[in-house]
Amino acid sequence: MGNKSFREKGLGADGKWTMFLRILGLTAVIVLVALVVTMTSRQDEKPIESMIDATTQTTQTSFTQETTPVLTTTQTAIQTTTQTTTQTTTQITTQTTSATTAAPAPIAPTDDEMEALINKKYITVNPYSRVGIRRASTLKIVVHYVANPSSTAEQNWNYFNGLAKSHVTSASSNFIIGLDGEIIQCMPIYEIAYANAPINDTSISIECCHPTNDGHFNQATYDSLVKLVSWLANRYGLSRNDVIRHFDVSGKMCPLYWAGDEGSIGYERWMAFKEDLIIDE
Ligand SMILES: [Zn+2]
Repeated sequence: MGNKSFREKGLGADGKWTMFLRILGLTAVIVLVALVVTMTSRQDEKPIESMIDATTQTTQTSFTQETTPVLTTTQTAIQTTTQTTTQTTTQITTQTTSATTAAPAPIAPTDDEMEALINKKYITVNPYSRVGIRRASTLKIVVHYVANPSSTAEQNWNYFNGLAKSHVTSASSNFIIGLDGEIIQCMPIYEIAYANAPINDTSISIECCHPTNDGHFNQATYDSLVKLVSWLANRYGLSRNDVIRHFDVSGKMCPLYWAGDEGSIGYERWMAFKEDLIIDE
């Protein structure tokens, strides 16, 4: 009975207190659990976000670091290709230009070249072919043909030199160009020769050999004539217009193949020859 009353009594007073404590404890536990869960959730979230950020950054970084070099490489490749293409185009253009102007500019003959080509073989000083007198000036270069088909430069030289004894006529030339392109110089360039009357005192004369009656010079003779006339013109400061034919001096059909007035075939041939001259003008 006493226990019962104690328990009842205890239950009556202590029961409410105990219940309060139990509720308070349970509430505290719930609150604690809720706090722990909340904190755990936040702790879990943070690392995830950090991981996401880190992953994103890593992805972005790797994207930036890897992609950019790729692009750069591509751009470099494109630039290289472009440069190569440009260079190729430039090379092609250069080659095309070179091909268009394939023929090299002719070079005026040098003193050394002419020294080697010219055979100085002076004829005897005499009143008929070599008076041994210096010209007053040098204003023209006159071209002739020997008018004796197939004769050689040597034979024509012998003819001029022989006039000293034969006295057949007065005739000579500063130069004779042979059938093989050889050049014989009959007297010093500055001396008077008898070929261009009435302008012997102001002009140089050149006689050219030819194989046939029409007076057509062969290639070897022609080539040496181009060199000799070009060299003399440059040496004396003469122009293309100062290179003339015997025809222009006296009207004689000399040189026959190139003689004639403007409009004639001979004149056209003469003008073509003058185009081949290499004169500094
Ligand atoms: Zn002549």
